[in-house]
Amino acid sequence: MPGAPTAQSNLRSAAEYQAMDAAHHWHPFTDTGHLAKKGARVIAKAKGCWLETVDGERILDGMAGLWCVNVGYGREEIVEAVARQMRELPFYNTFFQTTHPPAAEFAAALAEVAPEGFNRIFFTNSGSEANDTVFRLARVYWDCMGKPSKKIFIGRKNAYHGSTVVGASLGGMGAMHGQSGLPIEGIEHIGQPWWFGEGRTMGPGVSEDGFGLMRARELEAKIEEIGEENVCAFIAEPIQGAGGVVIPPDSYWPEIQRICDEREILLIVDEVICGFGRTGNWWGSDTFNIKPDLMPIAKGMTSGYIPMGGLMISDKVAEPVIDKAGEFFHGYTYSGHPAACAAGLANLRILKEEKLVERVRDDIGPYLQERWLKLVDHPLVGEARIRGLVGALELVKRKEPTIEMFEERGRAGEICRDLSVEHGLVMRHVGDAMIISPPLTLSEGEADVLVERAWQTLDALADRLTRDGLLS
Ligand SMILES: *Cc1c(COP(=O)(O)O)cnc(C)c1O
Repeated sequence: MPGAPTAQSNLRSAAEYQAMDAAHHWHPFTDTGHLAKKGARVIAKAKGCWLETVDGERILDGMAGLWCVNVGYGREEIVEAVARQMRELPFYNTFFQTTHPPAAEFAAALAEVAPEGFNRIFFTNSGSEANDTVFRLARVYWDCMGKPSKKIFIGRKNAYHGSTVVGASLGGMGAMHGQSGLPIEGIEHIGQPWWFGEGRTMGPGVSEDGFGLMRARELEAKIEEIGEENVCAFIAEPIQGAGGVVIPPDSYWPEIQRICDEREILLIVDEVICGFGRTGNWWGSDTFNIKPDLMPIAKGMTSGYIPMGGLMISDKVAEPVIDKAGEFFHGYTYSGHPAACAAGLANLRILKEEKLVERVRDDIGPYLQERWLKLVDHPLVGEARIRGLVGALELVKRKEPTIEMFEERGRAGEICRDLSVEHGLVMRHVGDAMIISPPLTLSEGEADVLVERAWQTLDALADRLTRDGLLS
């Protein structure tokens, strides 16, 4: 057995945590056998935008945890609000004709920042559960509209909508589908608007905007194929996050909006990452001028301090369902958990009082964007892209005379991810895209450090790949 934590630090050594973890902890999205041999990184503390390992090493968190710690770490206001709430009422359910002050208040506060026409929230504990909820509610809506045949959802390849069976099915991750026989029935997928990976290679006759239109019109073709009378909804992220921060061409969303306006289908905009300021507006829907009918949310909703998600429901969908459906047979024990609502309220207050959304739009957003985009000058970067505070670099083998990708996709990305942490910066890799999504509280000095460390990481990557013969 490992020794007891020492009185001074209250912590064991990294090796002890790694051993306990390797023996007993099965990690999400992880090759468990591989990690057990390598040993997990042990993060023990965090403050602002900085993580601290159990050994006292400081790392700049370029991913805001997992796209969620929008207000940064160590916010006493949230900690206090949660502690106060837990002393007052740690739990009560919202199933049986009851509510509690934090749930009522948080629902009202969310309606205030929601887009026009959104007045209601169904609380969940995660983004995945929010997408399970939307899958059921959207179908109930069409039943109430007297169109029960409208059951099929259209999602996109390489989209991410969570890890439950419905979330993974709505999403378009081939590896997830392959491993467990998904998607479930009633879900179809169209192509994604990833210009660098799929549009650029179509030849000189295809412009970025032309490609955006092509990919949007796949929705129209799919509706024709299935029959409009059978289509329930289209679901998409404004910017695909886990798919590699895919920022669609400017032509894409207006065309999707046109198609959804002309057809009788619901538009579900998954705001789990883009919501709560990430793209420089409250919602990704504002940034791309999208008019959604339903919005799954999570992540930035509580800045990750307590797990929470939810489904924002427009009046258009809510009214017929409230009128005609009777009971909605759906809910989670912890829907509207008091501590999560208290965290969410405190988080909203910080976003508003510190004007963090405006800050991303007008100050730190443009500041980081300018510097991040310059990384395209590095010989290993084929494209740099960023919107608000969410960005990506596309790693390539060479750029001259033409762009050449790495043969074994994802290997350079994985090496780069590890080198990045060694250089004191958390970046994540998706295939050969390196992605960032830092806290919205990032300072200008921290933005400089982020870009500087990213460049150093790329230099180290070039050395490593040359040594391993992967650049020849
Ligand atoms: C993370 C994510 C989800 C799933 O949220 P969980 O809280 O992990 O269940 C859903 N949609 C998008 C766009 C996400 O990024």
